[in-house]
Amino acid sequence: MALKIFLGNKLVDEADAKVSVFDHGLLYGDGVFEGIRVYSGRVFLHQQHIDRLYESAKAIRLVIPLSPADMKAAVEQTVKANNIDDGYVRLVVTRGAGSLGLDIRKTSNPQVIIIADTISLYPPETYTKGMQLVTASTIRNHPGALSSRIKSLNYLNNILARIEGTDAGMVEALMLNHKGEVAECTGDNIFIVKNRVLLTPGLDAGILEGITRNAVMELAVEAGYEVRETSLTRHDLYIADEMFLTGTAAEVVAVVGLDGRKIGSGEPGPVTKDLLARFQKLTRSET
Ligand code: PMP
Repeated sequence: MALKIFLGNKLVDEADAKVSVFDHGLLYGDGVFEGIRVYSGRVFLHQQHIDRLYESAKAIRLVIPLSPADMKAAVEQTVKANNIDDGYVRLVVTRGAGSLGLDIRKTSNPQVIIIADTISLYPPETYTKGMQLVTASTIRNHPGALSSRIKSLNYLNNILARIEGTDAGMVEALMLNHKGEVAECTGDNIFIVKNRVLLTPGLDAGILEGITRNAVMELAVEAGYEVRETSLTRHDLYIADEMFLTGTAAEVVAVVGLDGRKIGSGEPGPVTKDLLARFQKLTRSET
């Protein structure tokens, strides 16, 4: 069925949802976005995603033409109009149409695009058996050049690393930072468990501050686990007891192999399973 897309300030038919070829979002990846889950008709961690969107926009000096409250209402409206019960929202704000040059003063009409659709997930066996990863040779963007906390429309860094994962037959790939430390995966944050302590790279590793990452860290602390943000090497990962990824689409997914090394027992570990169960409970209860 054709979707209703929120574009500008109203819902339009999918076939009419068009933006200019002069939009800087297309010409330069000049814009910001969010990916948000809908569970049982409720937009999950909605405020956190809206906050990150406006922070990303502020960092790139993009003034979003809607207030955060109106944006939130527009997301709700789009979810309802498409009868999405369990699904995924893609929220995009572009710089708008400009000239063929870089000067943002020549752009006008930043475009707000909201797509609410069903979600494509990792294959089911990924959750029962865990996934394998390889380390990509493409390093994460230097955070001094472009903060990785900006969720911008320019995802080439991640796409180039993902291609390496795909070539190796995997659905994700590990990315290191400019210091050779573990950063994150191409669309997911990474955690390890060592001696029942959860370890994950800090924001200074040059990662996206994942909303699932933050929620899982909170759940883990509530459950009595020690959680530490720290720099990690690939060696730390190879000798971990457990490893898992977090992300809006992935939720919590076990990693059981990295670069041909078996991680822990080679099966999803008890802490990972416990945190997945706690996270799923949150997706059912959070309003
Ligand atoms: N890192 C990157 C590079 C991402 O694109 C994403 C989102 N897909 C994540 C981490 C996970 O963030 P979140 O939990 O907010 O989806």
